[in-house]
Amino acid sequence: MKLICIGRNYTEHIEELENEKPTDPVIFLKPDTAILLKKQPFFIPDFSNNIHHEVEILVKINRVGKYIDKKFAHKYYNEIGLGIDFTARDLQSQLKEKGLPWEKAKSFDGSAVVGNWLRINELGNVNDIGFTLEKNNEVVQKGNTSFMLWKIDELIEYVSKYFTLKIGDIIFTGTPAGVGEVNTNDKLKGFIENKEVFSITVK
Ligand code: ZN
Repeated sequence: MKLICIGRNYTEHIEELENEKPTDPVIFLKPDTAILLKKQPFFIPDFSNNIHHEVEILVKINRVGKYIDKKFAHKYYNEIGLGIDFTARDLQSQLKEKGLPWEKAKSFDGSAVVGNWLRINELGNVNDIGFTLEKNNEVVQKGNTSFMLWKIDELIEYVSKYFTLKIGDIIFTGTPAGVGEVNTNDKLKGFIENKEVFSITVK
């Protein structure tokens, strides 16, 4: 399985990183080895001094598809989750400057937190899901899928032009404002609406 990640999908986050507003979504992949194993801490890798948290709504694909029209995209998932796209921001800046791919900064082991899944019938409208990330019991990121530049079904249409979607693939839908550094002993907790869906410690 693969993790397909979307960059720059919320306006405020774009402003925060001084990126230009894109005409197409930014896409990158993480391999399955990026997934942080359940109940494991996140270890800050030795190649970075500036790891950022990016909390993101996740979509789990449950049918094989290619060239999916957004009208039919809702048939390709029935679970929504929350995760973190950990990013070595210092390394990413160096790579960006040189026009090089981001994989080393984005796709390293443990860089993808995947929380517990919630069924869509428990959630209601997928375009109005609130979510938050707490760091040491303080809210640091707060978002709602209604603020996405590209909504979930539009992302599925776009992504499936380039990559065949397979059962179990996960789409990371981009992060809202509030990304920031994590340090040793930080505790990160993710919530969809008021339900806790992950809790991890940074080591
Ligand atoms: Zn991200």
